[in-house]
Amino acid sequence: MAPLSNEAILELFKDSDALLQGHFKLTSGKHSEWYFEKIRLIEKPAALEKIVDLLSEKIKAEGLDFEYVVSPAYGAIAIGFLAALKLGKKFAFTQRVEEKMSFRSGFSGIDGSRAVIVEDILTTGGSIQEVVACLKERACAVHGIYVLVDRTGGAVPIEGKPVGALLALKIEAFEPDACPFCQNGIPLVKPGASDKK
Ligand SMILES: [Zn+2]
Repeated sequence: MAPLSNEAILELFKDSDALLQGHFKLTSGKHSEWYFEKIRLIEKPAALEKIVDLLSEKIKAEGLDFEYVVSPAYGAIAIGFLAALKLGKKFAFTQRVEEKMSFRSGFSGIDGSRAVIVEDILTTGGSIQEVVACLKERACAVHGIYVLVDRTGGAVPIEGKPVGALLALKIEAFEPDACPFCQNGIPLVKPGASDKK
């Protein structure tokens, strides 16, 4: 299958209802035409499956040698799990326990294995860095890092390597007094910001 254009991938995200177009107030206080409601990715499994199919093909094409797909809880669990299923690999997830990212206890073969990290969205890279640290503690080699959406436009390398992204989306944000949507009188929406992982 030929790689889809950024535009075609963007349409898939719109179909999932995760990528909203309108006039939004971001947590930074700035305004934007776009908002990513990432929890909606897992709300529509059939739409997510199409997206993860593409990510899995991208990972497969790199010919990486690894046993585990590892994702941080919670939103990325479904994404990493689906990717592991498509790639024929094992899956494990990390979660924060008293602020520290750790593997959920009970996974059997993590120590010394090779892993690919799969996360939903790259914004600052913070949670991915925490997963990398967690893997190192378990003597795990990180053979790749992938996200569905890179909101930095490739600006945040992790461990000195670029992060593989299905969709690179640099979202433009405006100061309220310079916002073209405010000037056109379009109602401002403040998306729910309380349940962040
Ligand atoms: Zn505005």
